[in-house]
Amino acid sequence: MKRILNPRLIPLLALASALHACRAPEPVDPPQSKPNVLLITIETLRADHSAIYGYSRNTTPNLDRVGQQGAVFMQAIAQAPFTLPSLASVMTGRTPPAHGVRNHPAALRPELTTLAEHLAGAGYDTAAMTRHSWLKRRSGFDQGFDEYYNNKFWAGLDARSLSLAAIEWLRRHQDNPFFLWLHFIDPHLPYTPGYPYSVLYHPDYQDDSKVQHVRSMIEQPRDDFRPSPYADLSGGPYLDLVLPHYPENPILLDLATRQRQRVEIFFGKVRYPEPAIEQIRDLYDGALVYTDDNLARLLRALSEIGLEKNTVVVVAGDHGEALGDHGLYFTHDFTLYDEVLRVPLVVRMPGRIAPGTTVAQQVRLMDIAPTLLELADLDVPEDMEGVSLVPLLENRSLPYLKAFAESAPKRPLFSGQPRVYYDGNKGKWRMVRDDRWKLILIPHPDGDIFELYDLVSDPGETRNLYEELPGEAAKLWPSLQEWMRKDPDREANRTAEETEALEELDPATRQQLEVLGYINNLINSESSTIKDQS
Ligand SMILES: [Zn+2]
Repeated sequence: MKRILNPRLIPLLALASALHACRAPEPVDPPQSKPNVLLITIETLRADHSAIYGYSRNTTPNLDRVGQQGAVFMQAIAQAPFTLPSLASVMTGRTPPAHGVRNHPAALRPELTTLAEHLAGAGYDTAAMTRHSWLKRRSGFDQGFDEYYNNKFWAGLDARSLSLAAIEWLRRHQDNPFFLWLHFIDPHLPYTPGYPYSVLYHPDYQDDSKVQHVRSMIEQPRDDFRPSPYADLSGGPYLDLVLPHYPENPILLDLATRQRQRVEIFFGKVRYPEPAIEQIRDLYDGALVYTDDNLARLLRALSEIGLEKNTVVVVAGDHGEALGDHGLYFTHDFTLYDEVLRVPLVVRMPGRIAPGTTVAQQVRLMDIAPTLLELADLDVPEDMEGVSLVPLLENRSLPYLKAFAESAPKRPLFSGQPRVYYDGNKGKWRMVRDDRWKLILIPHPDGDIFELYDLVSDPGETRNLYEELPGEAAKLWPSLQEWMRKDPDREANRTAEETEALEELDPATRQQLEVLGYINNLINSESSTIKDQS
C-alpha cells in the first residue's frame, strides 16, 4: 500500500535534509493527493423513508443525489438500534461487544483507536460537530478530534446551526487534508423541525407540489424562521412549534403535557387513532426534509469552496425509527427489526467511485471506518471486525458479509419494557442477518425465544418462520453463537439451559469448573473474585 508522509513532518524532514545535505528527504506527495473525508451521520434515519430506497415522498433528495453521484448501499445495517453503540461501531469498525459501548450513557474506551485517531495520525485536521447529549466529551467520542463541538441538547432547527458551523470550519481548513464528522439529530423525537417543515406533509398532503412551494419559500433569507432557542423534552417544542399545526393530536398533547408515561406511548399501551399516528409520521418526514435541506447547504458550500472533487462524502443513518412498526411507537432501542436497523448509506468520491453505483450486497455500518481508511490510502488494522467496502465501490466482488446487532438492555426508566427478561447485557436481543434471512434471539429464562424472517418474501418481518423452517435457522445459528461467544462480558451470553444448570451448582463448584475450563461464561469478568486475585 502506498505510504504518504504526514504533512506535519515535512518541516522536520526539510531540517533533517539541511543537516545531512547528502540525504535528501523522500519524495513527498502533495497534501492534495489525500482525499478529505466528510462523514455525516443522521439520527433515527430509516432507509425506507428515502426515495432512493423506494419511499413515495421525496424527503431526502440531496442524500439521494450523493448516492446517485457515487454509490448507494441498498442494505446497510446498523450494529445496534440506538445512538452510542451504533456510532461507536462507525468510529471503531467493531461490533458493540468488542468496542464495549452497549448502553446509554457509556464511554468509548481510550485504548481503542478510532477512525479519527487513525486519520489524525496520518496528518489530517479533524473536527466533530453534534449537539447530541450522549455525545458529550465524556463519551470518549472526542478521541482523535482536534476540535470537538458539542453544545447543549437542542432539538429542532439544529441541522441549520451545525451546517453553518461546518461551512465556517471548512473555509478555515482548505489547505490540509481534513476529516469532518457531523451528527445531525433533527429526525429524533420530539420531531420538531419547525415551521414550515412541520406542515410540509399535512394530512391533506396529495403530492409534492405543495412541498415544492414551501421549499421555494425556504430559499428566502433564513432569518425569518420561527426561533427554536430551546427544546428539552418537557413540552416547549411541541406547544410552540408543532401543536399550533396539529392542535387535535392526542399523542402530541400527551407528550407535551406529560399526561401519559412515555413508556405507555412507546410500547403501544395506549391505543391512539391511526390518523393521529399518521400525523406524527408526517412530522418525522418533515424533519427529514429539514435535515436534508441543511445537508444541501453544506454540500453546496463544499462545491463553492472548491473541495468537492477531493472529498469523500459519506452520509448514513445511525439507526432507524419505529413509527408503529412491531408495536413500537416513536422510538428505536428495543427491537432488531429492519425499521430500526436498516439505514441509508451513500458514498461519493469523484474520480474513484463511478456515479450510479448500486450495491445490493449487505454491508454494515462498522465497514465505514475500514472503507474510509483504504480510500485515504491507510492500512486497515487487522483487529477491526468491519472490512473495507472499496471492492464493492469499484464494482469488484467481496466475500459475503453477515451482519450482527444487539438491542438496548432493560432500562430502569422503562419498567414496562416488554420482551426483555434479564437485566444487563444478558437480556439484550441479538440478531444475525444475511441478504435473505434474519434470525433473532430473545433470551428468556424458560427457554430462549427465536424469530426467523424471510426478508425477501416478507420484508415487513410479520411471519416468524422459526418453527416452520428450522433448517434455515440452523444455518444462521452457529454464526450468531460464535459472535456471542466472543462477548467479553461473560455473563452476557449464557443460554437459559446454562443458567438453570448454573443455579443448581454451589458457588464453589461453579468457580472451580470455570477455572478448570469445563464451563464457559459462568462468571462475570467484572465481578469475578478469581479475576481480582489474579
Ligand atoms: Zn441515534
